[in-house]
Order: sequence, then structure tokens, then C-alpha cells
Amino acid sequence: MKLYMQVLIALGLGLKRNWHIFAGLILGVLAGIWLHSNPNSVIMTAFTFIGQVFIRLIQMVVIPLVISAIVIGITSISDSKQIGKLGTKMIFYYAIITTVAVVIGAVLALLLKPGLGAASYINSDVATGIQAQVATTIEAQKGNILNIILGFIPKNPLSSIAAGDMVPIIVFAVIFALALAKVGDINRPFVSFFESVFAATMKITDWIMCFAAPGVFALTAVAVSSFGVDIFMSISKYLGVLALGFCIQLFIVYPIFLKVFSKVPVLMLYAAIAEAMMVAFGTASSSATLPLTIACCEKRGISHKVTSFVIPLGATLNMDGTALLQVVAVIFLAQAYGVVLTPFLVVQIALLAIVASSTCAGIPGAGLITIALVLNGMGLSPEQLVAGFAFLFTIERITDMMRTLVNVTSDAVVAAAIADNENEINYDLLNNPEEYNEVIN
Ligand code: ASP
Repeated sequence: MKLYMQVLIALGLGLKRNWHIFAGLILGVLAGIWLHSNPNSVIMTAFTFIGQVFIRLIQMVVIPLVISAIVIGITSISDSKQIGKLGTKMIFYYAIITTVAVVIGAVLALLLKPGLGAASYINSDVATGIQAQVATTIEAQKGNILNIILGFIPKNPLSSIAAGDMVPIIVFAVIFALALAKVGDINRPFVSFFESVFAATMKITDWIMCFAAPGVFALTAVAVSSFGVDIFMSISKYLGVLALGFCIQLFIVYPIFLKVFSKVPVLMLYAAIAEAMMVAFGTASSSATLPLTIACCEKRGISHKVTSFVIPLGATLNMDGTALLQVVAVIFLAQAYGVVLTPFLVVQIALLAIVASSTCAGIPGAGLITIALVLNGMGLSPEQLVAGFAFLFTIERITDMMRTLVNVTSDAVVAAAIADNENEINYDLLNNPEEYNEVIN
């Protein structure tokens, strides 16, 4: 059977169990199209409210979950050499996947030239409105790399927690957990405390998931209703290039990656995480999807030791879908503005996209903020930048949904590969959906 057929069947297996979320998605698209031509502020307010309730509920558990998962993950690997091995492998795998993503984005955008003739679609009116916001972002990124690295180190972990800054929180959690692992048995009360926190947040996640179908429905309807069929047609080439890039990642790169680095069957993995993929698409947030990504992987046999370490870090640092989008978007803008794309410039865009994507939080829209770093690096003037942003904002949500699905899938792919390498995967559970059904029912 052809690979794409197998992947579709595997996705179907996952969709069968999650048909209500899938139905929420489809109905959300239809309702969004209807709302676009029949604007109704009462319905929009209601849908926005329902969507926000869902996102807030799920975001509510993210910080306790990330911290407890990292602490348990690292302290459960008592051998510090093993942490180093796992961490190095994780960074190596994430780097491979993100580098391949930017190469695919650059090649597709250069070959298919989505930006040629697109200048007329750039809305300069909206552009003026967000000029100040973008100028501030660019200003803040001057002296970029060093400032970015400094920003990773929390001055005060509690204020990072209060502000929800995920990268500094993770840096602190990793250092704290490494210290706990080093001090030996005296760490027991703290580790037990975090084990309880983790168990409780996973339980809350289960409850929140009862609300997934209406949540995904409302979020999708609001997103689709905000852009019309006209704008959709006029930028279809840009969207097409992105969709093609994302499909290549999902259906070619990840299967090859899993084949080369592990013996994990991609079809079974996709079936296992289909629920997380759909919620990623609906919420456009890797962080919000994080509890579910972990739950899906663990229910299908990937050990807690691996998921608790690899997935929270991936949900913040591994943004290959975002990196791919940033490369395509910036090359698109360069083409629309008639900027000559020298090989040097393309390499610079790709490298900056890798940095910019990994500094972006796993929340909706974050990738479009850090893209300023890439644009700035290629010397676009603020006016050009602002006009470009206006254009990108119009279709932001839909591209965010797509790239987040890719971001979340690659976290699970890397977790599965590492679990395989470390003998931390139960293949009976992964390969046997029947057994899985018995476990979850
Ligand atoms: N929304 C994306 C995520 O959560 C990040 C981004 O590209 O904006 O993975």
C-alpha cells in the first residue's frame, strides 16, 4: 500500500476515536464561512468566549505541568550521564528536523515564487495601524543574539512564572531538577510533591478534553470568519506553498526520520497522537496542546521518563513548522518587494529563522512576532516591514493552525525516536490499537 494511503488510514484510526473533535473542526470551518458573509456580533462574541474558555482552561495547567514534568523526568534519570545523553540526542534531533524544515521552505519559496505579483495585496492602511508595535519589536531585538540568550536566563524565576515566559521557566526547571537529581535521597519530598502536581494536572487535562469539541469548533469558526474567500483566493499561492511544505514535513521528512533513527512505525504514531494534532490545529498553541501530547504518547507506550523530558522542551524550543513558515513568509515578502535574493541572503534568512522560531513561545501568533528578527536581519526598511506584517496578519490564524500542528507532531516524533533508542517504548501498545482501546476504555 502507498505510504500516503497508510498515513491517511492511520489518521483515520485516530479520527475515529476523536470524531467529535474532528466534527467540531469541520463544522467550525462551515460556520466561519457562513459568518463571514453574514456577520453577527452576538454569535461572534459567543464563539470567541467559548474559544477563550477552552484556551484558558488548558493554558491554566501548562506551567505546573511543564515544571513538574521536567522535574520528574530529570530526577527519574538518576544517572547524570544519561541526562546528558538524552539531552544531547534531543537537541541533535530537534536541530535536524528544524534545519530540514527551513531548507524545504527556502527551496519551495524560491522555486514556486509565491510572492511575485503579490504586492497589490499588501494593505498599507492596516499597516500604518501596527507600525508602532512592529517598530518597538524591532527596537527590542537590536543586538539580537546576545540579548536573546540573556533573556533565556530568569532574573527571578517567580516573575517568569507569573509572566508565563516559557523559556526562562524551562531553564530554571532544568537547572533545579538537575540539582535535585544530584542531591540524592534528600530530594524525595520535593519529587513526590511534583509527582502529585503532575498527576493532578493530567487529571484536569482529561476533564478539559470533554470540552474539546465545542472549543475547537468555536476557535475555528472565529478564525475562518475573519478572512474572506477573496483574500483566500488572492494569497492561495502563498498558502499552497506553506501547505506543501508542511505536508512534506509530515508525510516525507518525519517518516524518513523515524526510519533512519528508530523502528517506530509512523502510522501507529500518527494514529496515537491524532487527538493532539487536531487540538494543536484548533488552538494554534503547542503549549496549550502539551498536556494532550504527553497523554497521547504515554497512553500508547512511550515512557513517562522520555515524554516528560522531551515533549515540554520541544513544545517551547522545537518549532520546525514555525521556522518553515518564517522562511516562506520572508522570501515571499522579498519577492513581493522585488528584493534580490542572493544565496547569502537566503542562508541568512534560514539561519535567523532557526533562531527566531526557537525563541518563540508555543502560543498563538508568537511566530509572527519573532519573524521581525528575520526581516530585520535582511535589512528591510520599517515601512516595508510594516506593510508586510499587515498582509501576514490577515491570514495569520490559519497559517498558525497549520504550523502548530507540525510543531506538535515533530515533538512527538522526536520523543518516539528517543524512546526507541533508549528502550523506553512499549511496542505492544503502540502497534496494537485494540489493546490501546482496552487500556483507555
Ligand atoms: N502557535 C505556534 C505554536 O504554538 C507558535 C507560532 O508559530 O506562533 O506552536
